[in-house]
Amino acid sequence: MSQYDYIIVGAGLFGSVFAREATDAGKNVLVIDKRNHVGGNIYCENIEGINVHKYGAHIFHTSNQEVWDYVNRYVSFNGYVNSPVANFRGKLFNLPFNMNTFYQLWGVTTPEQAKAKIEEERAEFKDMDPSNLEEQALFLGGRALYETLIKGYTEKQWGRPATQIPAFIIQRLPFRFTFDNNYFNDLYQGIPIGGYNTLTNALLEGVETRTDINYFDDQQHWNGLGKKVLYTGKIDEFFGCALGELEYRSLHFETQVLDQENYQGNAVINYTDKDVPYTRILEHKHFEFGTQEKTVVTKEYPHEFSKDNEPYYPINDELNNALVKQYKILANAPEYAEKVIFGGRLADYKYYDMDDTIEAALSLCQKELTQD
Ligand code: UDP
Repeated sequence: MSQYDYIIVGAGLFGSVFAREATDAGKNVLVIDKRNHVGGNIYCENIEGINVHKYGAHIFHTSNQEVWDYVNRYVSFNGYVNSPVANFRGKLFNLPFNMNTFYQLWGVTTPEQAKAKIEEERAEFKDMDPSNLEEQALFLGGRALYETLIKGYTEKQWGRPATQIPAFIIQRLPFRFTFDNNYFNDLYQGIPIGGYNTLTNALLEGVETRTDINYFDDQQHWNGLGKKVLYTGKIDEFFGCALGELEYRSLHFETQVLDQENYQGNAVINYTDKDVPYTRILEHKHFEFGTQEKTVVTKEYPHEFSKDNEPYYPINDELNNALVKQYKILANAPEYAEKVIFGGRLADYKYYDMDDTIEAALSLCQKELTQD
């Protein structure tokens, strides 16, 4: 007899939402996680009274009403609007690309002037059918914008020439002709009041959770404890990388406590020059309008992925997408399909934002928890 209805492998956002919904639907669940804390990559560590985003900046944003209503059942949001600034060789530019940026780049002061300037800048590229990120960027905004704000950052971030990066990655960057520095186009955004751990703790309230447990140390044991397993880790690892290893981009973080109140005046400053080894500096207190005496800053360095690093970004190029397709076929084979559910950023191998993760988890709940 299985002791639990579901063993949930991974206490990140996907696993936590499913755990909450399954528990509320009367299921008996156990969540295990190999880390020494729950929350996955949204986990924050309290340093000097400041919530430090241990696994990189997380800014909640969505236009999905269902997802927004869902998270607001558990936390309130603080109205933070993400407005990163780019530093290129000591000069500052507003992001995303908007009238402020165009003024800083070219001195243009009206939308009409900005549009005319961009048309001039992209003239030689406008008949292009972009097949990679570099071409996409040149096609959108021409060379100056590309070389000042995109090329260096992107090549550091992905560790390869922009000509070898899929074009869709840059489509995440809005391009607008108003003086609006809001990085996202979404209807709703903010940071949970009390930090992300408040959200995770609310989702996992009353749910049996064990940390410091590596599922793969005794897979048979954990599988045996549940009628079903929800696996939210890397899909290739589940199958012992039998078909090959999926590639990821990783990050290294260098965090410092500074004995000053305000280091950079913004939560996020991107360093878009290739010669600066990090891509951005986070000053965590500004995500929550902190007034602490000290400040905590983190330099974010892109890094090759290996077994000793965290898998942050899937590399959704043709090769890796083809490989993940093969793994998904394997996952759908009857011996797995009846027992194991795969879900979340790592199992789906998708560049999910938090709202995508919640949407996917809720859609799984809909399918899985309303059957009987
Ligand atoms: N990007 C860029 N310059 C910037 C910020 C972003 O060229 O100053 C590009 C880069 O290719 C990056 C992509 O936009 O990989 C997506 O950036 P975003 O900030 O949305 O990604 P995150 O790393 O925050 O998920």
